[in-house]
Amino acid sequence: MRPTGRLHLGNFFGALQNWVSLQDEYECIFGIVDYHALTTDYGNVDQIGQNVVEVAIDWLASGIDPQKSTIMVQSLVPEHAELHLLLSMIVPLPWLERVPTYKEQIRQLPEKDLLTYGFLGYPLLQAADILIYKADAVPVGEDQVAHIELCREIARRFNHFYGAVFPEPQAKLTRMARLPGTDGRKMSKSYGNEIQLSEDPESISKKVMKMMTDPARARRTDPGNPEVCPVFDYHKLLTDAQGRKWVTEGCTTAGIGCTDCKQLLLKNMLPVIEPLHEKRLELEKDTDQVKQWLVEGSSKAQGIARETMTEVRQAMKIEY
Ligand code: AMP
Repeated sequence: MRPTGRLHLGNFFGALQNWVSLQDEYECIFGIVDYHALTTDYGNVDQIGQNVVEVAIDWLASGIDPQKSTIMVQSLVPEHAELHLLLSMIVPLPWLERVPTYKEQIRQLPEKDLLTYGFLGYPLLQAADILIYKADAVPVGEDQVAHIELCREIARRFNHFYGAVFPEPQAKLTRMARLPGTDGRKMSKSYGNEIQLSEDPESISKKVMKMMTDPARARRTDPGNPEVCPVFDYHKLLTDAQGRKWVTEGCTTAGIGCTDCKQLLLKNMLPVIEPLHEKRLELEKDTDQVKQWLVEGSSKAQGIARETMTEVRQAMKIEY
């Protein structure tokens, strides 16, 4: 995850919750990718250091366990940058130019000048982040599948030129890849439609109560369609079958209003989030310990990255 600030519900329900359960099944490496933050925020770097700590606190509060998994900061393992450079020699420019999110992001963030070398290369940096650990699986949402495919193509091209060094990683799809924000668009900091995981229950409740619903349901007496309602996406994650049936029947017959539906959602959502707040408060009191875990995790990750880079340099005949 990029250190762009405190995490929001999209990060939590779309990625983090899944990561927490993967820890028992896989040997996981989770990275806070500060070089990636620079690809879009190179003009505003004051917050990056603090944001790294905020992301780590959100992870730890959510149940990422440094005893089970490796948590690392990308720039503390500069081998990522070396692999990125070496891979950049073999990646044809059109492979990067045709990545769907490239043009889309440039369009969506006109206030940032993203026509830079670094921004074009960010899917390649992602590939380096994955390949340097010879990862088998990468937990991502649907929108990242094209990037994993690109990563596989890069691995194949490297192996073709220099011999079999990299395995081809598979995308491990998460359940909810596009959790909507308060305005119905994908929840994202850049849209300003996010609800932060660390917000207090009153603030979360206020935002949920104001959240956009089925736009065709203008009045309480109009029937609605849960399938187009952003609030129902949350019910799919948080409400049991019986509750969802109550919502669906009530909404489609105008038997319940949006307020009733949202109250049920909050009743199911807040107990999931509130325990995280307590853990967060504890972690905030000891940020030195949090930083220590990041340094230790990065050092462990660097051990693996160095081994891979030795192989890469041998394969590319640049060892002396
Ligand atoms: P980002 O900081 O945008 O790179 O997001 C970090 C992680 O959170 C990635 O795995 C994203 O797929 C996930 N994520 C971000 N926003 C959302 C969202 N609105 N819904 C679901 N997952 C999201």
